[in-house]
Amino acid sequence: MIKDKLNRKFEYLRISVTDKCNYRCIYCMPKDIFGSKYQFLRKSELLSYEEIIKVAKTLKPFGLKKIRLTGGEPLLRKNIERLINGLKKDALIEKVMITTNGSLLTKNKLIALKENGLDSITISLDSLSQRVGNIMNPINNSNFVSEAINDVIDIFGSVKINMVVMKEINDKEIIPMINRFIDKKIELRFIEYMDVGESNNWSLENVFTSKETKSIIGKYFNLKKLPDLIDSTSEKWSIDDHTLNVAFISSISKPFCSECNRGRLSANGNFYTCLFSGKPYNFSNYFRNEESSLSFDNYFKQVWSNRNDQYSQLRLITKPNKDKSNKVEMSHIGG
Ligand code: SAM
Ligand code: SF4
Ligand code: SF4
Repeated sequence: MIKDKLNRKFEYLRISVTDKCNYRCIYCMPKDIFGSKYQFLRKSELLSYEEIIKVAKTLKPFGLKKIRLTGGEPLLRKNIERLINGLKKDALIEKVMITTNGSLLTKNKLIALKENGLDSITISLDSLSQRVGNIMNPINNSNFVSEAINDVIDIFGSVKINMVVMKEINDKEIIPMINRFIDKKIELRFIEYMDVGESNNWSLENVFTSKETKSIIGKYFNLKKLPDLIDSTSEKWSIDDHTLNVAFISSISKPFCSECNRGRLSANGNFYTCLFSGKPYNFSNYFRNEESSLSFDNYFKQVWSNRNDQYSQLRLITKPNKDKSNKVEMSHIGG
């Protein structure tokens, strides 16, 4: 067990398995920046599945319990079920999860993911309306994704849906999304639009806060608070007697840095101690080069015990300095 400067454990690793994506969401990979000239990582730079499994095995004694595979779009990596299998059966990670835009989730893929030990799936879906979908993400296929959501429930029992809410863009979609999924085993998570990276042109004016979302929902439904789970980054609420629960992730209006037990690994093996950090720790030096693997434990001890990140908490009291920031993109660090 290891603790950082703010007494936070290391229990959770989010791994971006690719920085590429087949979507271009405006809040993450706007198409004018992530166009044909954008330099994505080369294939040879990506950590192999064997290397990722080795990282997980090495980090487990430090307290690592959960891994989330993300990206970019994680399902663009071929046979990701092979990685999942290794993380569960070889690295013995308690919980392996995935966050995906759902566009590649066929039934066969879902069965393969389940058979290889995947514990749960989170699908990102910001709107049901094609018109709004087109503004949020010029390439989208919300009909296919809505169907995939049903298949995930059939195979995994339940599903989480991430919806990033942007003011005057998709805030009118909150109630239609609830109505569509109201009697399904779903946790619908409303996420405040975050200032991750440098390319989404983030402004506080585009943030639709959890308070605003809750107040809209309150006009149509009775919300009842559910108990807070340890280390959870969201507040969960039930809706009348329905099976759908809603959750609010309020990293702008109500940050949760004091509970943050997570690290992030980019597809090319850079470790970051915070979503908003511009400082990579190069793990690939250790995992691509057998000779240095012995010293990794000491290196990681130092990295985590010196960690004092609390970007979102500080954002509340000081305005982020635009000139000085060099934040890494969401698609690189993994959302
Ligand atoms: N491509 C996959 C997907 O969209 O689910 C996985 C990667 S994506 C970066 C992971 C999550 O980050 C998604 O749920 C996405 O909506 C969220 N996300 C991306 N940019 C964001 C932003 N600026 N603010 C809040 N959430 C964001
Ligand atoms: Fe792709 Fe996910 Fe980013 Fe959208 S949020 S552009 S689907 S990585
Ligand atoms: Fe964790 Fe950084 Fe997010 Fe705070 S801002 S919750 S430290 S990732």
